[in-house]
Amino acid sequence: MYDLLIQNGKIVDGSGEAVFVGDVAIKDGKIAAVGRFSPTEAEKIIDAEGLIVAPGFIDHHSHSDYSLLGPHRFDNKVEQGITTEIVGQCGGTLAPIRPQDLERAAGMFGLADDQVKFFSEKLGTFSQYVDYLETIDLGDNWAFNAGHGSIREFVLGYENRAPTAHELEEMKDHVRNAMEAGAVGLSTGLIYPPASYADTDELVALLKVVAEYGGNYTTHMRSEGDSIVEAVREALEIGERAGVPVNIAHFKLCGKNNWNKLGEILELIENAQNRGLKVRADMYPYLAGSAGLIDAIPNCFAAEGPERLVENLKNEDFRKRVWRELQTGSGFENLIEYCGFDGVKIFGAAITEELKGKSIAEIAEERSTQPFDTICDIIVENAGDVRAGYFMREEAQVARLFALPYVMGCTDGSIKSEFLPAGHPRDTGSFPQLIRKFVREKKIVSIEEAIHKLTYLPADMTGLKGKGLIEEGYDADIAIFDLETLTDHADYLYPEAKNEGMKYVIVNGSIAVQDDQFTGVFSGKVLRKR
Ligand SMILES: [Zn+2]
Repeated sequence: MYDLLIQNGKIVDGSGEAVFVGDVAIKDGKIAAVGRFSPTEAEKIIDAEGLIVAPGFIDHHSHSDYSLLGPHRFDNKVEQGITTEIVGQCGGTLAPIRPQDLERAAGMFGLADDQVKFFSEKLGTFSQYVDYLETIDLGDNWAFNAGHGSIREFVLGYENRAPTAHELEEMKDHVRNAMEAGAVGLSTGLIYPPASYADTDELVALLKVVAEYGGNYTTHMRSEGDSIVEAVREALEIGERAGVPVNIAHFKLCGKNNWNKLGEILELIENAQNRGLKVRADMYPYLAGSAGLIDAIPNCFAAEGPERLVENLKNEDFRKRVWRELQTGSGFENLIEYCGFDGVKIFGAAITEELKGKSIAEIAEERSTQPFDTICDIIVENAGDVRAGYFMREEAQVARLFALPYVMGCTDGSIKSEFLPAGHPRDTGSFPQLIRKFVREKKIVSIEEAIHKLTYLPADMTGLKGKGLIEEGYDADIAIFDLETLTDHADYLYPEAKNEGMKYVIVNGSIAVQDDQFTGVFSGKVLRKR
């Protein structure tokens, strides 16, 4: 007797092979058989006639781990069809963490003293952290990377220098500790201090440890904009010197002035692949990043903190200096150059709420002010509390990236936490949008190719056994949806709007989503690679 029988579905098994109609039988959390079975053979039946039955999606780049520090909920991830998340991205993990850094996080997440004490006991080493993960309720499965930034901060703090030989050994020990605990690889976030102080040799040394365990390297590169070509070169060099597969995280080309570099980048990647290096990338489909409007002002003007900057922006001469830097300066990510004034939009404002949804160009037109002055005015009017969307990507280029056979899907988002800043729609809608846009509407990839990119490819990249295929013996992680209606409704103004068309999501044999709603069943597991 099977526990669950999914009948008459259009099975897209993750391998890339053609869809076929059939039944999937589940027992004890595993796929027991794929074929044709009588309803009398199972305790429970799901009628999947007309629906796609696919392996559960693997979110190859998830930041859900930080939400664990406070009250959190899983619905926005699982309702997309995600059954496995790879956390520990962009070099940041919850462990190892120094007491003073935990204090800082405690402020952000509103932790009480006893919770700080609790976490400081759980997060001293990576292996303690993974043991702790085993004790909490997970709505989906979690695999994890070690984080270079967290390790560097633990060993060197914020010091802007190379590690001593002794410190490097200590960093390698932390990597080894994580790999022994079952990490799938090491991640970096090379735009974020103190990780940005690391040179290429330091990263190669740490990744040689990862290579001993068959892990991979996943990187938020040093640049996704003006220096992206150099950044891709570095990522590939690290992979080749250390002997590890390379994943380019949340792959995108930021800035109108950089879009023409795609050909050169793809040539670099494909040449490395031809030399035998395994190179993949993951991506989400949205065109805009979300940050403070104040982040459009170059960092060098913000050294005295955001409050002082808001004060300074009231001053005409100060504005002139900032504007001159934006036009002639270099060495910073120039969001205004990347997006243009029509590509910077207000997503939320503490005071001038009526601006929500409008671009700087539109507001400047309405107010008859210069666009840059308009930005400064809005920052001042709201005492700095303005959330903006930066439209840095080209729509056609996003589609072209997803069509590449080595590109996978991700959210770059987290499970919901009331202590994290207002979300980006990618937290909720990434996977439905990838399928809606690129399979159903634009027909850039077939459903078989898309499912392969969202399931088998990331399972293969991370080396997770039993994931990514509908096949006998595999874990019963399954997404069942209507290809004709699957739709994401989250957008920049309503980032938590629910999806539709996801009929069932099954995690380790249990029904975690029914009719677009998380059922409250926590059947996720911690996935240790070793
Ligand atoms: Zn990142």
